[in-house]
Amino acid sequence: MFPIPDVIPGDVTRWIVGFLLAMIVAFAGFRTRSLSASGAITAVATGGLLVGAGGWWSGLLLVAFFVSSSALSRAWPKRITAGTRIRQARGHRRDAVQVLANGAVPVICALAAVSVADPVPWLVAAASAIAGATADTWATEIGRASSSSPRSIVSGRRMAPGTSGAVSGIGTMGSAAGAVMIAVLAAAGAATNVWANVAAPSIFVVVAVAGLAGALLDSVLGATVQGIWRCPACNETSESPRHQCGSAARLVRGIAFVDNDIVNALAIAGAAGAGMLVMSLLR
Ligand SMILES: [Zn+2]
Repeated sequence: MFPIPDVIPGDVTRWIVGFLLAMIVAFAGFRTRSLSASGAITAVATGGLLVGAGGWWSGLLLVAFFVSSSALSRAWPKRITAGTRIRQARGHRRDAVQVLANGAVPVICALAAVSVADPVPWLVAAASAIAGATADTWATEIGRASSSSPRSIVSGRRMAPGTSGAVSGIGTMGSAAGAVMIAVLAAAGAATNVWANVAAPSIFVVVAVAGLAGALLDSVLGATVQGIWRCPACNETSESPRHQCGSAARLVRGIAFVDNDIVNALAIAGAAGAGMLVMSLLR
């Protein structure tokens, strides 16, 4: 048999099939307008690396995140109010930056898992990161159906729907449901002995707690350090320095370069860290 040089760690077939499957999922996401062209290309790299380094189960968690989030943004009822335009202006097609904001941390954890003697803490961190991304996305999508204005997680003041850092009861329940869904799948992975010698209930608790912690951190960062502008022409808040009307807006809160994607990535990194921490306490 032709010898395959051992330059790629892990199972070579899994890397190749992982990238092929990632291409299929990304192409489907592009065709159904969940991903832009740059988003689809980035999703192929993200999914391929995650399956190759993190294994089939990590890839399954990513697909669960992507498919459920896309379905919710399409099918979940939305209340159209003035404030919802803030997020809807960005559209539902995820671009490369948005894919990286959600996928970079899980990929880094998976690459770490394949490089160390004990991969389990890093695989748990990758699952926790995906749980954090899912919890945050589900909170946003499900929160859109809220009949009352959300409140700032920091000040408790009522805010326009869709504002970063604003939380609602139904959105928080959606966040918990998202974290639990990924935690159940991760625990199922542990039960099928993907992660040898770690009990499935432990994996469930760690991933669920870490995912919720990530979504909470996302809201806190969104309410504090994320840049928020106000358009002087329309007197509406904006999450970018240029309001959708075309006027330049003034920074009224937070740090100018900290946008929604940076907050997302930081919160997901926080979920990964929380997962590793709780895992080390349980082991
Ligand atoms: Zn304006």
